[in-house]
Parts: sequence; C-alpha cells; structure tokens
Amino acid sequence: MAAAESGFPEGLAPQCGSHHVKPASPLINGETIINIQGKTAIVTGAARGIGRGIAEAFAREGAHVVAADLGLLAQASRAGWNYALSPARELERTAKDIEARGGACVAIEVDVSDRASCQNLVDKTIEAYGRLDILVNNAGIIQTGPIAEFAESDWDRIFAVNVKGIFLMSQAALPHLRNDAGVIINIASVSGKRGFPNMGAYCASKFAAIGLTQSMAAELAESAIRVNAVCPGHVDTAMWSDHLSKTETRQEQYGTETTEDTFGAVVRDLVPLAREQSPDDIAEAALYLTRADSVTGVSLTIAGGYVMN
Ligand code: NAD
Repeated sequence: MAAAESGFPEGLAPQCGSHHVKPASPLINGETIINIQGKTAIVTGAARGIGRGIAEAFAREGAHVVAADLGLLAQASRAGWNYALSPARELERTAKDIEARGGACVAIEVDVSDRASCQNLVDKTIEAYGRLDILVNNAGIIQTGPIAEFAESDWDRIFAVNVKGIFLMSQAALPHLRNDAGVIINIASVSGKRGFPNMGAYCASKFAAIGLTQSMAAELAESAIRVNAVCPGHVDTAMWSDHLSKTETRQEQYGTETTEDTFGAVVRDLVPLAREQSPDDIAEAALYLTRADSVTGVSLTIAGGYVMN
C-alpha cells in the first residue's frame, strides 16, 4: 500500500506485503466504524443476572438480541441443581422488558450442555434474524465444597455447562460467524485466574474457559473471528444470593447471618476498590471486546482490583 493511501507519513507506512497483514480500522470522529447496530447477538444464560445485563446492553446499542436460557428445560429433572436456575418466566420477562424499551429481542430456550439444543438455538436465531455475528457464552453454574468430598456428578455437571457449553455453542455458531468477522465472548471469572479453597471444580472450569478462549482465538484469527473472555469479580446475582453467600464457611468467617451482609462483607474486605461489580460493568467490557477489532485472546478482569491480571 502506498504511504499516501495508508494515511501514514512518508517513510512510516507499515509494510503490508503479506495478505495476512491488515490495516487498522478506519476511524470516524475518533471511533472505529465497528458498529453493532443491526448485528445479531446470542447471549446464553440471559434470563437474569450478568447475562440479562449483557442482553440489555447489546439491545441498547441496536443489536438484534437472542436471549437464551433454560426456560422450561430448567424444570426438567436433569436441570435440577443446588440452587434454582432460571425459570421460564424470567427468560420471557427479559425479552419483553427489552422489547418494551424499543430493543429487538427474542427468547429461545437452550441447554448449552446439549449439542442438539445448541444447534436448535442457532437455527432459530437464523430463522428470526437471518444472521449471527456475536456469541456471548455466559451461562454458568457453581457448586462449592472440599475436593475430598466433592461429588463426581457435580464436577461433571459444572464442566458440562461451563466448559463443554462454550465448545458446543461455538461449534454450532461457527459456520455463521465465519461469514462476517464474528465475535465470541466467554464469561469466565476471577476464579479462572487464581485458585480458591472449596472452589476446585468451578475454578478448574473457569481456567479451562480461559484456555479454550486463547486456543480458539489463535485458531480462528485467520477467519477474522475474535475470541475473548471477561472475568467478573463479585456480582450480586443468584449465584451469590442463592449459593455462595449461604455457605457456612463464609457466614462463619464473616460472622454474618443474611446473604446480603455476607456479600457486602466479602466485597468490603477483599476488593481494593471496595465496590461490587454490576451486570452493567460486565456488559461494558463485553461491548468493548465486541468492538475492539485489534483484540483477541485476552481475558479481561473486571473486579475492582480483587485480581489484577
Ligand atoms: P446466574 O445464576 O444469575 O445466571 C446464570 C444463568 O445461566 C441462569 O439464568 C441459568 O438459568 C443459566 N444456565 C445455567 N445452566 C444453563 C444451561 N445448561 N443452559 C442454559 N442456561 C443455563 O449467575 P450469574 O452470576 O449471572 O452468572 C453468569 C456468568 O458469570 C456465569 O458464567 C458465572 O460463572 C459468571 N461469573 C459470575 C460472577 C458473580 O459474581 N456473579 C463472578 C464471576 C463469574
């Protein structure tokens, strides 16, 4: 490319001889022209919590959103868990609330640990919006307990959702993402950056999610598909209120009785910025990674300094 065309001063133009080297995105008013308006985004685990926040944020930015969660599948026996996963009405409400605010959203049921269910979600997305550009693998579950007593079935279940779910959803989505420089964002955790006591299965699953993110990023770069992870710190969702804040070890440690007190004490004592993270904080990171077209393979920690890598 000639220096004048590239916009670089004479002599400073990058050497773009190889077809692998792409110029930086053009800028309009200082912003890249990557615009998610009219693009289609699937968000799994979108009925509540962080997933709902991400679905709302993408819809606000003009994307067509597919809010995917267990829905009626949560009532099925194999969906039973140590705390209640999202019931069907929550998934419907997420989609209705987004539509009521002028956003485009459909609710589709999925069990991300089931291959046929993932394929069905992608097929229905294409039926609804005709394309798929962004996949946010947010669905996740947790169970805590000492490794010596941890149930094998709980270990398998955590890996089936938190790790295999990313694999199955990505496989189903890839043929469509390849069409138009797609984006995959995996919601990992600070528990994917360091180990914590009584969190062996969950931490291992989130380390795996980060490893998968990096491998997919390296492999899919040649298809112009970017793959990144977001690692939230402490977000006050059902994962905390219905499970983590209730564990005896935490309540004993902090001398707290209510789940709100426990969550507050954890944040106050452990997070340098002494603030919890909101679903909006995580959604902002997901939006950034969707637009950051020079960024792939990172796992971006959003944790108020609790974990700094
Ligand atoms: P949440 O329990 O409120 O939301 C998780 C959602 O995933 C639920 O709606 C649930 O029904 C859905 N889900 C579970 N299994 C599913 C399956 N097999 N198929 C489809 N959907 C399924 O919890 P959250 O805190 O919003 O968690 C969202 C993600 O963020 C998870 O991956 C979690 O590990 C991660 N995370 C949360 C925190 C936190 O502090 N809350 C911190 C770090 C990471």
